[in-house]
Amino acid sequence: MSDKPAEAGEVREIRLNPIVPTESVLVATARSMRPKKAEELAPRDTRKHVETCPFCRGNEHKTPPAIMVWPESGDWQIRMVENLYPVLGDDRAQSNFSFGLQQTIDGYGRHEVIIDHHEHGTAIQDMAEPHLAALLGVYQKRMQQLFESDDRLKYVLVFKNFGPAAGASIPHTHSQVIAMPVVPENVEAEVRNSAAHYAKHHHCIFCALIDEALTFEATLYDRTSGAVRRKINVGQYVVERGEKFIAIKPFASRYEWEVHILPLAHQADFLSAADTDFADLARVLRRTMARLDAVIGGAQYNFFLHSVPHDNDQQAHAPSYHWHLEICPRTSIPTGFELGSGLFVNTINPEQAAERLRAVEL
Ligand SMILES: [Zn+2]
Ligand SMILES: [Zn+2]
Ligand SMILES: [Zn+2]
Repeated sequence: MSDKPAEAGEVREIRLNPIVPTESVLVATARSMRPKKAEELAPRDTRKHVETCPFCRGNEHKTPPAIMVWPESGDWQIRMVENLYPVLGDDRAQSNFSFGLQQTIDGYGRHEVIIDHHEHGTAIQDMAEPHLAALLGVYQKRMQQLFESDDRLKYVLVFKNFGPAAGASIPHTHSQVIAMPVVPENVEAEVRNSAAHYAKHHHCIFCALIDEALTFEATLYDRTSGAVRRKINVGQYVVERGEKFIAIKPFASRYEWEVHILPLAHQADFLSAADTDFADLARVLRRTMARLDAVIGGAQYNFFLHSVPHDNDQQAHAPSYHWHLEICPRTSIPTGFELGSGLFVNTINPEQAAERLRAVEL
C-alpha cells in the first residue's frame, strides 16, 4: 500500500444496502481497485433480420408453438414460446427429498421465452414506446396466467439478458419468464427486511427511498476538523422521472451503472399495475436505457422484476413491499475478491454515475 495522498474526490467506503444490509458494496474509486474490464464487449448484433435465427419472423416452425402473440391478428411483433431447454419443467411431480443434510425441492415450474420484438437486434431504447408498453403488458398477463394456473407456484421471475456479456445465448432480443415453487432468496430477503422496517417505522422502506431521492438535502461535517464530509443534493440519485415511475441510482449500487425503476405510488404487486400505467413505465424504461447506452457505449445488461411473492404471506406484505425493476449493466468481470468476500466492488461513485446519466441529451 502506498501512502500517496488520495486523489481528489476519491471514495473508499462500504455502503450498506438499506433494504438488504448483508448485500454491502465497497465503493472504491482508487485506481488499484478498478477490475479488469470485461473483454472488449462483442459488438451488439444490430441486424434486423437473420435468416437462420429461430426467433426471426418466418422461422416460427423452429420454436415450440406460441403461447401468446401481440398483436392478436396480423404480423406478430411480440411472441411468447416455451423454452426449448427449460431449467424448470412441469412434467415432473416428485415429492421433495430430504436425507441428512441433503434436501431438494422438486424442480417444478415453467420456463418460457418472450421474443420482445420481431426485429432481431433491436435494443429497448430503440423500440417504440407503445411497443414497450405492450411488452410490459405481456409480462403482466403471463405472470397472472401462471399464478392462476397452479397454486404451487410461489414466484414468477421475469428477466432479460441482453448481450453476450450478460449471458444472452441467443442474440435475438428476448426476455424470459421462470415460474417456480420457491421464492428466490434475494426476493425473500427484501420481503423480510422491508416487513421488519414496516413493523418498526410503519412505512414502506421503498417509498422512503423514493422520498429521500426526491427531497433529501444535507451537508454533513466532520466533527473534529469541521470539513464537509458529505453533501447530499436534492435529486442526486434520480436518473429519470415520469408521471408515475422513477428511475433511481441506488446509493449502494452493486454494479457501476445499476439503476432501479419503481412506481412512485406504493404498490407491492406488479400484477396491480394498471394497463394505463405502462405507457409511463415504457417511457421511463426507454429513456433510462438510452442514457445507459449512451454513457456505457453499448449497454449489455440483465434486468429483472421483483414483485411480492404469491405465497401465504402475500397479503401481510402488501403494505411493506414495493415492486421494482432492477437494471444491472455488465461492464466488468467479478474478481476473486468479490467472489471470496461476497462484497460487491463498485469503482464508480454512484452520485457521479447518476450525474453522468442525467447529463445525457435525449
Ligand atoms: Zn432473430
Ligand atoms: Zn412503497
Ligand atoms: Zn429487488
